[in-house]
Amino acid sequence: MKLKRALLIVDLQNDFCRGGSLVVPEGEKTVPLLNKYIRIFLKFDLPIFASRDWHPRETQHFKHFGGLWPVHCLQNTLGARFYKGLKLPEEAIILSKGTSPAEDSYSVFQAKDLNGLDFISLLKIFGITELYVGGLATEYCVKYSVLDALKYGFKVKLLMDAIRGVNVKPADSQQATSEMIARGAVKADFKKVATQFARIHR
Ligand SMILES: [Zn+2]
Repeated sequence: MKLKRALLIVDLQNDFCRGGSLVVPEGEKTVPLLNKYIRIFLKFDLPIFASRDWHPRETQHFKHFGGLWPVHCLQNTLGARFYKGLKLPEEAIILSKGTSPAEDSYSVFQAKDLNGLDFISLLKIFGITELYVGGLATEYCVKYSVLDALKYGFKVKLLMDAIRGVNVKPADSQQATSEMIARGAVKADFKKVATQFARIHR
């Protein structure tokens, strides 16, 4: 079966970047790379998905309500907007997650688009078989999304130059990366992807 690829950009939002309320160190450094990946996927007319944390004010995801995290990415606030440098095209499909007060929703497979369709239904509609994944944070939303994708039978390319981790413990992202690779994700970077697309899509 022919592979059909899509780009998945995980949670590139103001609150996770410099100046935000839950900063992923160097998170914004993924943006120039992600913009380059976006251009490739646009050029080959392949779908681009962008997920966002989209939390209500009260959720068990936040510290005040028993969760792990400071308040971040509240629905319809500046902190929840995509980082200003990220050049998401009009046709990008936005997926919101963490909208329920009772769940963390680290995985994009728990997200829905603006019409209420979940990610897996969208992937089926588009006939996608392989996801190219970048974004934030490596050991949370990227990891859980990648592991779910593999579990559901999708191939995954992990865009090593376009992910960053929180590293509550220093080795956290490295461990998460090893886990994703062990489960079947394949490491890639911009050079590899550009070469691959130039070869395949002629
Ligand atoms: Zn969150």
